[in-house]
Amino acid sequence: MSMAATIIDGKAIAAEIRASLKERVQKFSSTVGAAPGLAVVLVGDDPASHIYVRTKERVSGEVGIRFEKHHLPHDAAEEEVVRLVRRLGERDDVDGILVQLPLPGHISERAVLEAVDPAKDVDGFHPQNAGRLLAHGSGIVPCTPAGILELIRRTGVRIEGKEAVVVGRSNIVGKPTALLLLQQHATVTLAHSRTVDLPKVCRRADILVVAVGRPQLITAGYVKPGAIVIDVGINRLPGGELVGDVAFDEVKDVAGYLTPVPGGVGPMTIAMLAQNTIDAAMARRGVSC
Ligand code: NAD
Repeated sequence: MSMAATIIDGKAIAAEIRASLKERVQKFSSTVGAAPGLAVVLVGDDPASHIYVRTKERVSGEVGIRFEKHHLPHDAAEEEVVRLVRRLGERDDVDGILVQLPLPGHISERAVLEAVDPAKDVDGFHPQNAGRLLAHGSGIVPCTPAGILELIRRTGVRIEGKEAVVVGRSNIVGKPTALLLLQQHATVTLAHSRTVDLPKVCRRADILVVAVGRPQLITAGYVKPGAIVIDVGINRLPGGELVGDVAFDEVKDVAGYLTPVPGGVGPMTIAMLAQNTIDAAMARRGVSC
């Protein structure tokens, strides 16, 4: 007999977090005399990127963050984007800077991300923040990994000493998530496309985080009974349906906790962006609330 997993309601948790962020923004604004400011740089016309930016704008508005969008044409020169990012770094009314990825192919993402003021780097992608996370678990933590950790924490299951397996080793999700779990004293395995016998590696996991981008990659046979399974993947099927990397219907009968797609990690990512913006604003202006 199998027990159905507890479905982790990322949508509800993110809404709770946004409500508490709204209160912090109100306190911040009355102390400082201005709302925290977030500037998003968007280059080109990738439809998904435009949707993501609109969502970030909506959530910023909801919590009271001042939002500005800087949209450059697809053929903008790398120097132009770098100059814009530097200028935003110098502006006192801008607390957070986010460069929406991917950038068009002729622009080096690395050059642009390294031009972001690390104190305003609310995506946590600047090497200084990545290095701080690696060295001592401080600095601005990337939004998706921060959201993943919060979802795991809210299950109430102790992370210390547990076997954690992260599938996917991107700089945006997999690597920083593995570091956060390590910082929480899990025994961490970072698996990827060259991992031999992925099902066996995954079955070790008390905590399984999947960030690959392949629908139905993780089936019931990959999952230890009772495990926490966090599905980061966002895949659009030919019919238009949005699914994760985990075969939800079968894994829910094996896992102890499982995030849905949509409504799991996605809303947490945006909430953590708002949180990073407020934290960056407070740190820069030396206030606490
Ligand atoms: P990426 O393409 O940069 O990295 C994918 C990783 O998966 C790579 O490290 C690769 O080694 C690994 N991989 C590929 N095929 C594999 C296989 N067959 N078995 C094991 N590992 C394999 O992707 P990313 O930016 O980390 O994003 C991963 C997924 O998460 C995507 O679907 C993306 O849309 C989604 N995502 C969601 C959010 C969110 O907020 N929910 C945020 C970022 C990314």
